[in-house]
Amino acid sequence: METIPLVAGRDYPHTYRGFVKMFPDNEACATYLRKIRWPQGFVCPSCGIISTPWKTTRDRLACPSCRYRTTVTAGTIFDKTRTPLTTWFEAAWHVSTAKNGMSAKTLERTIGTRYRVAWTMLQRFRVAMVDAERKQLAGRVEVDETYIGGVKRGGKRGRGATKSIVVIAVEVKDPKGFGRVRLRHISDVSGASLIPFVNDVVASGSTIQTDGWGGYNCLDPTKYTRSITVQSSSGDPAHVSMPGVHRIASLLKRWILGTHQGCVVPEHLQSYLEEFTFRFNRRSSNSRGLLFRRLIERAVATSPVTESDVTFGYGWG
Ligand SMILES: [Zn+2]
Repeated sequence: METIPLVAGRDYPHTYRGFVKMFPDNEACATYLRKIRWPQGFVCPSCGIISTPWKTTRDRLACPSCRYRTTVTAGTIFDKTRTPLTTWFEAAWHVSTAKNGMSAKTLERTIGTRYRVAWTMLQRFRVAMVDAERKQLAGRVEVDETYIGGVKRGGKRGRGATKSIVVIAVEVKDPKGFGRVRLRHISDVSGASLIPFVNDVVASGSTIQTDGWGGYNCLDPTKYTRSITVQSSSGDPAHVSMPGVHRIASLLKRWILGTHQGCVVPEHLQSYLEEFTFRFNRRSSNSRGLLFRRLIERAVATSPVTESDVTFGYGWG
């Protein structure tokens, strides 16, 4: 989409030192958001005219044509936030540059906010990450389900513990290696849950590799070629017949157990899957600072998320 390539040190910080220098105060953060949100100049949300806005107060902008007043954060995930932009930026930096991301607990300690503030920022960033994944997977795509287990319900381990089902789709490259992934938390493994997922995330013309499970029988044959992996009676292990999904499932489980100590409740599982996907699909990016920039870009392009959205589980529909 961008015509001019982004430059480290100018368009995004390269190191934490550079980050601190680039964003000394809220004003610097707001200016950065303005550049990302309105690269061709301020576009009035009311009349649509491009102009240089008047600054009425520190962060209020007014349209010279229609006098409509707004802020750079209005209509984004930063909308009406009481948390300073510097704190949001600090959180975005740590979340995008830590190799495995961060739990709310670690973020709370790292930037010194209250737990609730850290948790809410993380949830909002995860919502911003989902829209980044619009382009459908293509080529040869492995699809299979996995179980995220031992998820605690009611705070008790063991008794009443419930497993959540996650369906995984991953591009498999020739001769080896994997492309992008997409993940969805589903309530059961019926065709009614599996087929819409495949239709949403895999492009027409792709080859879908599955096991013999009947839930995939209703894949549209005019849209996809289905290739069924039949496990041999000698017991071909899953990692041989479906290396992609096997690899993703084990990375996902390790991430949930490691970074998040396994503390992921079913209501919020999808938002964790979005963060895993965002991170995995950009794993080859050689600059962590670029990931920070992408996250901020997503954050200004994403509509406000309410407190109740993040508290009771975002309606991912
Ligand atoms: Zn206007």
